[in-house]
Amino acid sequence: MSQKILSLRMHASRQGEHVSGGERLLTFEDLGDAALALLHRALEHPRGCAEKISLTVENLSASKVRRAELLPVTTHQAANWRQGRNIARKLLVTQGVATEIVENSIRQLANGPGTDGRVMRGAMLVDAGSGERLEPDGQRGVRVSRMDLDNDLLAEVAAYLNARELNSRRVIEALVLASKVTLYPEVIAELCWSDDPDYLTGYVASAAGGYQRITRMKPRGDMFGGRIIFVCPGTEPSGLIERLQHEAVLFGPLQSGGPR
Ligand code: AMP
Repeated sequence: MSQKILSLRMHASRQGEHVSGGERLLTFEDLGDAALALLHRALEHPRGCAEKISLTVENLSASKVRRAELLPVTTHQAANWRQGRNIARKLLVTQGVATEIVENSIRQLANGPGTDGRVMRGAMLVDAGSGERLEPDGQRGVRVSRMDLDNDLLAEVAAYLNARELNSRRVIEALVLASKVTLYPEVIAELCWSDDPDYLTGYVASAAGGYQRITRMKPRGDMFGGRIIFVCPGTEPSGLIERLQHEAVLFGPLQSGGPR
C-alpha cells in the first residue's frame, strides 16, 4: 500500500450500550466498500440493530504507518466452554499472569466487564502483578485502533488462513488486533471472547505464544464477552494506551517462524 492511507472507524450503540465496531486502514479507492460493509455490520448485528452509528474517516501520513508481522495461529479444540476457559487459564498462567488475577478477570468478562455491568466498547487493561484495572474509563475501555492488513500481502495471508479453513473477516480482524496489541513490550497477553451470542470461539494471544484460538469459550446465546489486555506489573498505562489507540500499523505475512 503506497498511496495515501485513511483510517476508517465505526462505532454502533443502542441505549448507550456498545453493539459493534470496526477499524480499517485503507486507500480512498477502497473506502466506499469498506464503509458500506461496516454499516451492514452495525445494522445486522446479532446483538440487535444499532440506534446510533458513527463513522470516522481520517487522513494519515503514510510515513507514520508502522509495518509489522502477524502472529502465527494455532487452534485448541475445546469440547465445551468450561474446557475452553480452562485452556485459556493455563495459557495465561504460562505467560506469567497469576492464577487469582486470571480467575478474577475471567469472572469480570463473564459477568459484564463494564463498570455498569454491561459490555464495553474497548478492552480492559489489567496489571498482571496487582490485578488493578488501568483503563481510564471503566465503561468504555481502551479501543485498539488504526490497524489493518497490508493490501499487497492479502493473498499471502489469505492462503495461510485458507489452509486452516479460517479465512473469514472476523478471524482476520481479531488476528490483526491481537498482533497489534502484542507488539508492545508492556503487554504480557490478551484474552478475548466475543459478545456476539452466536460466536463461541475466543483466543489468548501473546508475543511468545502467538495467536491461540480456543474453539469454545462461552455458552451459545450468552451476550457477554470482551477483551482483557494483561500488562507487566507497574506499567504506567498512558503511553501504552496512546500507542494502542493511535499508532497506525499495517500487517504483512506471518512471523518469520512461519506457519506452525
Ligand atoms: P468482537 O470481537 O467484535 O465480538 O468484540 C468483543 C469485545 O471485544 C467487544 O465487546 C469489546 O469489548 C472488545 N473489542 C472489540 N473491538 C475492540 C477493539 N478494537 N479494541 C479493544 N477492544 C475491542
